[in-house]
Amino acid sequence: EFAIISIDIDKFRLINDRYGVEIGNRSLMILGKTIKKVAQKNSIAKRYQGDVFSVLLSYKTDQDILNYMMTLSDRMHDNDLLPTSISLVYGIYKVTDREVPIRLMCDRARIAKKQIKGSTLTNYAVYDDVIRLKMREQVEIEDEMEKALLNHEFVMYLQPQIWVEKRKICSAEALVRWKHPIKGVLVPAQFLQLFESNGFITKLDTYMWEEACKYLADLQKRKIDLPISVNISRVHIGNTDLPDILSGLVEKYKISPRLLELEITENLFMDDVTELFDQMAELKKRGFKILMDDFGSGYSSLNMLRKAPVDTLKIDRFFLDEILSTERGKIIVESSVRMAKLLGLLVVAEGVETKEQLDFLASVNCDIAQGFYFSKPIPLAEFEVFLSKNI
Ligand code: C2E
Ligand code: MG
Ligand code: MG
Repeated sequence: EFAIISIDIDKFRLINDRYGVEIGNRSLMILGKTIKKVAQKNSIAKRYQGDVFSVLLSYKTDQDILNYMMTLSDRMHDNDLLPTSISLVYGIYKVTDREVPIRLMCDRARIAKKQIKGSTLTNYAVYDDVIRLKMREQVEIEDEMEKALLNHEFVMYLQPQIWVEKRKICSAEALVRWKHPIKGVLVPAQFLQLFESNGFITKLDTYMWEEACKYLADLQKRKIDLPISVNISRVHIGNTDLPDILSGLVEKYKISPRLLELEITENLFMDDVTELFDQMAELKKRGFKILMDDFGSGYSSLNMLRKAPVDTLKIDRFFLDEILSTERGKIIVESSVRMAKLLGLLVVAEGVETKEQLDFLASVNCDIAQGFYFSKPIPLAEFEVFLSKNI
């Protein structure tokens, strides 16, 4: 029996960043040599690209494959020639059908490996039917997405945001839904990640921003002053056209930029923020308001908040869940709200589902609440009804 194993170094980029390219290169050379040393009869190995190596391994039982990986990992782990230990990750394709083109076999091994990225529980994965089905689903979605956009299958839903003190609506967040003709209403979790990786999100977001602007123009005509916030995918950050695209839209619909609020996820504030902050400063200069979304879900530092050009902090839903569960959680949320307000920021709590949560938020002077307690994200027509009752 044969298996194709795709091997790469876990977090290779970090090794390069931390120890420099020379150590990075040396790691690759040592990995190549080690693969050669532990090679078995009838096996072939090659460097595929970057830090990816491929091995064709002959085996009798699954244990042989496990043994092979264990030996290789052990040798790389304790290596005197490198300043750091190296962990390997493996994707395995068992050759069951020899008619499958070899290139495809190698792809499948790499696809399997992708399934374990970020997992600390395992360092290998086998290509199997589950993965095959998932891949087929993704291909289906990719075939349909462009047409779906033209057919207006993507729809803007709105979720109200409420002033905690006055219990009146103050704004709304635009959230995308895909009204699929066969599969029904799909939520972002079912397609967003794919769209971010294949780039389609730039088109979808632009479409959503335009939908929001259209509605803002409509509200303006009726003398209703209600900002709408839209989500900005990470993919746009660093794209120098972003400010012009957004300015272009608010000019086209003759609305004030302050009404189109921009939500940027906290996760982006953890990497190098120079570029991000420059871009945000530019957007602010043009009159847009900026919200930091999902605050508390990642590990951004408090120090970063001091310099971040944001107007509003949106506290993440999972963070808020802590409120009712532990005393310490309450203290953390309360202090976060107080700190944000001292920094002059407006505070929104996301995912408010119960009266207890709302009462607690009121007691710590949180400004705005958003969540199922008031309303789920709803289509425009329903939102209009909500608006007429809560303005
Ligand atoms: P988000 O921006 O943090 O949006 C809040 C999410 O929490 C929404 O999920 C909303 O339906 C959900 N939510 C609100 N209140 C509650 C509550 O009380 N309980 C619970 N359990 N959930 C609540 P949704 O609509 O599925 O969106 C998920 C994420 O997808 C959003 O998180 C946002 O990051 C992203 N997203 C949505 N629409 C767009 C879009 O048009 N463009 C981009 N780039 N991202 C989008
Ligand atoms: Mg959001
Ligand atoms: Mg959020």
